[in-house]
Amino acid sequence: MPAVAKKLTVRAWWLYLAVYVGGLLAYVVLPAGPLLGLAFVILPWAGVAALVVGLVRNRRRGLGLLWLLAVYLAAGAAGLFVMLSLNMPPSPGPQDLFFVLGNTAQITCMVWLARRRMPARNRERLLDATVISSGFALVVAIFLIKPAIATAGSVPAAMMVALYPMVDLFIFALLISLLLSRGLGTTAMRLVALSQLALLVFDCAYAFIPLQLLENPVLFNLTSAVSLSVYGLLGAAALHPGFAELTTGSPDNRPEMPWIRTPLLWAAVMAGPGLLIFEAWRYDSRVPDAPIIAAGCVLIFGLVVGRLQALVTRVNSQARELAEQSERLNQLASCDGLTGLVNRRTWDDVLADGLERARRHELTTTVAILDLDHFKEYNDTLGHQAGDRLLKSATAAWRAELRETDVLARYGGEEFIVLLPGCDGPAAAEILEGLRGTTPDQQTFSAGIATWDTTESADDLVARADAALYSAKNAGRDRSVLAGAVPV
Ligand code: GH3
Ligand code: MG
Ligand code: MG
Repeated sequence: MPAVAKKLTVRAWWLYLAVYVGGLLAYVVLPAGPLLGLAFVILPWAGVAALVVGLVRNRRRGLGLLWLLAVYLAAGAAGLFVMLSLNMPPSPGPQDLFFVLGNTAQITCMVWLARRRMPARNRERLLDATVISSGFALVVAIFLIKPAIATAGSVPAAMMVALYPMVDLFIFALLISLLLSRGLGTTAMRLVALSQLALLVFDCAYAFIPLQLLENPVLFNLTSAVSLSVYGLLGAAALHPGFAELTTGSPDNRPEMPWIRTPLLWAAVMAGPGLLIFEAWRYDSRVPDAPIIAAGCVLIFGLVVGRLQALVTRVNSQARELAEQSERLNQLASCDGLTGLVNRRTWDDVLADGLERARRHELTTTVAILDLDHFKEYNDTLGHQAGDRLLKSATAAWRAELRETDVLARYGGEEFIVLLPGCDGPAAAEILEGLRGTTPDQQTFSAGIATWDTTESADDLVARADAALYSAKNAGRDRSVLAGAVPV
């Protein structure tokens, strides 16, 4: 595609939108007459045309049910044309056939789109969307549905006129769900959402603006222009380069909710009390819609309690998860990965605590360092993995032989250190002989034993045990030597 044509395609959507907004502004100030009627027909079909261009241009990109947008807009434009041709007939009339067809396509397409764009189902988000929609439903029920039913002559007519606010309500709930799940993250999707919002604004404006005011032609045209903007906004969305990406989901999957949630929830919860105050003020302390308001409040407050419950459940499960994680982290930080013994870092604390306890209870305490003999050779002959296996099985055997109160730690590669509370040197030597007998695969070790003299530092105590180990190695290995004693 030549560069100029490409640039034009990229910008087509906002050029189109600018022209469309210009058309709408012209429409607002046009006097009643054939020109206004012509604009009332041309503007919707201009939206349909842009939508069809967008759909056809992206036809190979898996648009799915987005094609239904064409049915929605074309049926709506046809309905408006019928209304104009029949000189604005009352509802229900033949135009409603087109509008109902359009609404069916609209809802099907919007539900499909919302499901594509929302991440996995989330109970809390669903509850939030239901609370917000229920607050809006209360207002719609009192100001749109109730009067519509009251003024309709027959039951079918009442159902017909109540249908449109119901559609609005449903679309509103979908938009809120999308908003809360950050499903409105792209320009094309925002244009679609804005078109649906315009529909809501139009229906609400019709219900809330007093009839005398609508006799003003500019205000009347302005209200119609809002409904016509639905076509322009959807047309612009279809021309946007991101139109086909509408179906691929939102790029923004951050877990936290957008800031707008709190004011929306607040407004929804205030809908009941607000309507109560409004009606009491307007009808001289009587509340004609008390049953509807009460039912709405029961529903909304129930949902809010459900929302709190969901939050408490989530916080509890997060707290449990955090406790488990911290337990796992502690385990990782304090234990040696291969043998599962206390590691060197934790050993320093274990020894400091052990000596402190020894001081407090006047307990004789001994430390022994064990070093496997000729372990390099073992590795070289049988392989490093066999060496690993021996480290594991030897330490497991030693651990089983030691008392509960003894602490065995991995001091270095094939060096281990053990704290023996309540043991003097000879008792420790006896325990180490027990360990020697359990060492697997005929492996031997040498050990240096030092008994705490009650005044020396932990470092000095370990240094003495280390020196004794050195003596044991020098004396021929496979033996234990008491610090300060002559090796035998
Ligand atoms: P000595 O009797 O003098 O203690 O001789 P040695 O071979 O045991 O001592 P040296 O310090 O020469 O070698 C220690 C060996 O321990 C070398 C190293 O490969 C091995 N080693 C240290 N950590 C591990 C380990 O985690 N797994 C295995 N398989 N081997 C280890
Ligand atoms: Mg060594
Ligand atoms: Mg060794």
